Amino acid sequence: MSFFDGIPVAPPIEVFHKNKLYLEETAPVKVNLTIGAYRTEEGQPWVLPVVHETEVEIANDTSLNHEYLPVLGHEGFRKAATELVLGEDSPAIKEGRSFGVQCLSGTGALRAGAEFLAHVCNMKTVYVSNPTWGNHKLVFKKAGFTAVNDYTFWDYDNKRVHIEKLLADLEGAPEKSVIILHGCAHNPTGMDPTQDQWKQICEVIKKKNLFTFFDIAYQGFASGDPAADAWAIRYFVEQGMEMVVSQSFAKNFGLYNERVGNLTVVVNNPAVIAGFQSQMSLVIRANWSNPPAHGARIVHKVLTTPARREQWNQSIQAMSSRIKQMRAALLNKLTELQTPGTWGHITQQIGMFSYTGLTTAQVDHLISTHKVFLLSDGRINICGLNTKNVDYVAKAIDETVR
Ligand code: PMP
Repeated sequence: MSFFDGIPVAPPIEVFHKNKLYLEETAPVKVNLTIGAYRTEEGQPWVLPVVHETEVEIANDTSLNHEYLPVLGHEGFRKAATELVLGEDSPAIKEGRSFGVQCLSGTGALRAGAEFLAHVCNMKTVYVSNPTWGNHKLVFKKAGFTAVNDYTFWDYDNKRVHIEKLLADLEGAPEKSVIILHGCAHNPTGMDPTQDQWKQICEVIKKKNLFTFFDIAYQGFASGDPAADAWAIRYFVEQGMEMVVSQSFAKNFGLYNERVGNLTVVVNNPAVIAGFQSQMSLVIRANWSNPPAHGARIVHKVLTTPARREQWNQSIQAMSSRIKQMRAALLNKLTELQTPGTWGHITQQIGMFSYTGLTTAQVDHLISTHKVFLLSDGRINICGLNTKNVDYVAKAIDETVR
């Protein structure tokens, strides 16, 4: 007898499972387009040079120690992260209506924000885009949301944002529902609403008294310009919306396993901040008590030192432009091969991912026959492409869809 008898084995988490299958694959030619992490032209992970230099400096700084950080995190980091997403001249910052809470990467920020909304504000209904990042529903369910719903996002036939259905679904959401919006580089589709569409989304959310929860895990990655990638969030702030924003520094700083994140909070009345922060302290206390310092120190130093920040800007531009080049290379090759179907969406989409439109059966074929690994919904991580394997992948897709 065990207390744990009868626990059913949960299905594997697809993205990690497919990544493992890739690693275990013994075929001489194989391509990994699964996990959402940046890869260089050589197919290697990349430690940003400015991150490495800053890390060395931190290691040599004998004034630092390993004492606990405050529950809400590293003060300088929280401020820098909030300014990065809202913009230094944000009305919310100027009017003292915003603050940051350091969290365990984007996932931790989503979790802390979700728990706060569910348990402190009694908001238990959430809407996520269909499709969305594989973890959104799980996070909100485990955080205490009792209704985890979808709003239409993708038009599968025309490979575009289905703005009409999206707006209609939001119109139908009950008051005070939490609406998760991807700030930029929508995962998995790689397609963001246009500025005009964002304006319409904002209007419905305002009119229907819904609550905005932005998730921005790729700021700077989409366009190479962090301000441009935060356009929608800043627009909502200008419109006087209250919101929380989960920020991840996994991708844009390459700090995946350091778990550096922030929950930026914008309220319409500074008087509520004391209550908010005190209750949020209890949420964090019961989860991780206080966050780790290493990654937060790096991000803080880089964002607040002009020369380092410039170096960081150059690195995110290098990453985002390599992604764009690989999108173009894949599209060119498919065009050259006269691959059946339309493929223009590959270069219209932005950020790390492309939602190829390949079916699950085609994905299975790509994996078993060509050893090109991707998610079953057809999402590929463009970073897994490089000048040496892009033709191979295009030919594999071509053979698969014919
Ligand atoms: N949101 C979205 C949409 C994501 O794609 C990711 C990363 N895959 C995250 C949040 C959070 O990632 P992390 O916890 O590693 O910061």
